[in-house]
Amino acid sequence: MSRSVLVTGGNRGIGLAIARAFAEAGDKVAITYRSGEPPAGFLAVKCDITDNEQVEQAYKEIEEKHGPVEVLVANAGVTRDQLLMRMSEEDFTSVLETNLTGTFRVVKRANRAMLRARKGRVVLISSVVGLMGGAGQANYAASKAGLVGFARSLARELGSRNITVNVVAPGFVDTDMTRVLTDEQRDGIVKQVPLARYAQPEEIAASVRFLASDEAAYITGAVIPVDGGLGMGH
Ligand code: NDP
Repeated sequence: MSRSVLVTGGNRGIGLAIARAFAEAGDKVAITYRSGEPPAGFLAVKCDITDNEQVEQAYKEIEEKHGPVEVLVANAGVTRDQLLMRMSEEDFTSVLETNLTGTFRVVKRANRAMLRARKGRVVLISSVVGLMGGAGQANYAASKAGLVGFARSLARELGSRNITVNVVAPGFVDTDMTRVLTDEQRDGIVKQVPLARYAQPEEIAASVRFLASDEAAYITGAVIPVDGGLGMGH
C-alpha cells in the first residue's frame, strides 16, 4: 500500500537516501528543502523547520497532494562545532532550535492526523554522538540526546493509538556534514569504528524503512544504532 511519507531535509545526504528508499518501495514521498533546486522525483516543499508558519504551509501542501502524513522521518539537522570555551549562546541555541525544537514542530504537526487515523510511524534521526558525547559538539550532542527522551515520551503517550516513535542513531556517514572534516580527523574516527569505515547514507535508510514497515509494528521507543559498532554499550 502506498503511504504518505514526509522526510525533512530529504533534498540531500541521509535524508535523500531515506526518501529514495521509500519511493522505491512505492510510497508517495514528500521532502523538505530550504534553498536551491530540490532533486526530482519527489513532492518537494520549501520549509525551514525553525519557522512554524513554513511548517504549517508545508503540511497543508502535502495533505492536499498526498493526504495526511502517515510516516514522518525527522531527519533535518545541523552542526555548529566549537569547544565549550568558545561556544557562544547562539551556537548552542541555534543547533537546539533546529535539531530538537524543529523536530518537535514537525512531529507535533503530524501527530494531529496520526491520532485521528489511529496509526502512524515516526522515526527521528539522532546520532551516536548523542549517546557518547563528542568533544566540540556539546550543542549537537545535547540536541541529539534530547531526541531520545522526546521519542520515548511520545512512545508512551501515543502507543495506545498505534503510533510508534523510534530513533535511529547513525555513526559517521559519508555526507556533506562529514566532508568538512580533515583527512586526519576522518582517519581518527575510522580507527575507532569496529567496521573500520564510514556508513553510506543508504545503510541508514534501510533501518528507517524497516522501522516504518509492518514487520516493525511492535517496536517503539527504541534507539537503533547504525554506527559500525562505534557506540557499542550505549
Ligand atoms: P547534511 O548536512 O548533508 O544535510 C542536512 C539536511 O538537513 C539538509 O537537507 C538540510 O537542508 C536540512 N536542514 C538543516 N537545517 C534545516 C532547517 N532549519 N530546516 C529544514 N531543513 C534543514 O547532513 P546529513 O545528511 O549528514 O545529516 C542528516 C541527519 O543525520 C542530521 O540530523 C544529522 O545530524 C544526522 N546525522 C548525520 C551523521 C553523519 O555522519 N553525516 C551522523 C549521525 C547523524 P538544506 O539542504 O536546505 O540545508
